[in-house]
Amino acid sequence: MSENRERIKTLILGSGPAGYTAAIYAARADLHPVIYTGMEPGGQLTTTTEVENFPGYPEGVDGPTMMVQLQQQAERFGTQVRIGMATEVRLSDEPGGIHEVVIDNDKTLEAETLVIATGASAKYLGLPSEQRLRGGGVSACAVCDGFFYKGQEVAIVGGGDTAAEEASYLSKICSKVTMLVRKDQLRASKAMQNRVMSIPNIEIRFNTEIDEVLGGQVVEGLRMVDNQTGEKEEIAITGLFIAIGHKPNTDIFKGQLDMDPTGYIQTRGKSTKTNKPGVFACGDVQDKDYRQAVTAAGTGCMAALDAERYLAEVESPQEVG
Ligand code: NDP
Repeated sequence: MSENRERIKTLILGSGPAGYTAAIYAARADLHPVIYTGMEPGGQLTTTTEVENFPGYPEGVDGPTMMVQLQQQAERFGTQVRIGMATEVRLSDEPGGIHEVVIDNDKTLEAETLVIATGASAKYLGLPSEQRLRGGGVSACAVCDGFFYKGQEVAIVGGGDTAAEEASYLSKICSKVTMLVRKDQLRASKAMQNRVMSIPNIEIRFNTEIDEVLGGQVVEGLRMVDNQTGEKEEIAITGLFIAIGHKPNTDIFKGQLDMDPTGYIQTRGKSTKTNKPGVFACGDVQDKDYRQAVTAAGTGCMAALDAERYLAEVESPQEVG
């Protein structure tokens, strides 16, 4: 076999709670898992400060620490963790078939089973001024970047739980947070709505969208538009946070795996099975409803168990009932 090809029993793409949990189970079942981390090693939790709702951490744990511990736990049982990004896939339709995955447009992996745990990424509005100023004051992660705007005025777009949570976080660091909500109501849970409404330095602007992000090299302000009256207004801010939801990282699987209209991979029944034999999906890439670390970890476990059963079946079909 050429140096640029490698056979792998269980290949896992993605290194969030789903990928690492799949690795822990796969390694303990002697499936010799190899994880490729993707662009954001550790996944979305590395952009979170405190995780307070993962069972077993009564005092909470910070996201990056939790991900390092998950990696260590996976490595303890023999998982190989590698930095790299899947850039192309050729999935087999045959039971027992080999799935080819190209890493970084270079090396080709031949996977007997493939676990997809590539997660989801933050969405942006798509305005040219927003894209131009990404990294210059436009961010999709308040917890990562809020610190840079200490004592300054910022704005956040979105009316869901993420926007509400991030607005509340920013209100502790920044002098004022303007929350731009395109509808006349928040989508966030009642508890989060009550929280943001009770914080004096958060101003919620309903029926409001962004017309343009102002500034040359860095964000200096916003031109907002009232979508009921068409009236425009400019405000001075130095940071703009986008919190309008996520998009599943499934582009490379399009045309090969069944997906819903928004690009989430469809799994079968209560399993993590996709429409290709030996290919399993877990975590946020196949879940737009729950999207929690603990549910991602749960489906990661399921994917490893499904992969183990699948391999047993294709290796000795007569022994499996
Ligand atoms: P959501 O999809 O729930 O909310 C997205 C928000 O962004 C909505 O208010 C939506 O408006 C708005 N929006 C979408 N596109 C645009 C746009 N182009 N311009 C302006 N506004 C836009 O995403 P979240 O990330 O907030 O939450 C995702 C899931 O995670 C939810 O199920 C949530 O409950 C959960 N979550 C739970 C948390 C917790 O329990 N602690 C914390 C964070 C998230 P509209 O309402 O008009 O569609």
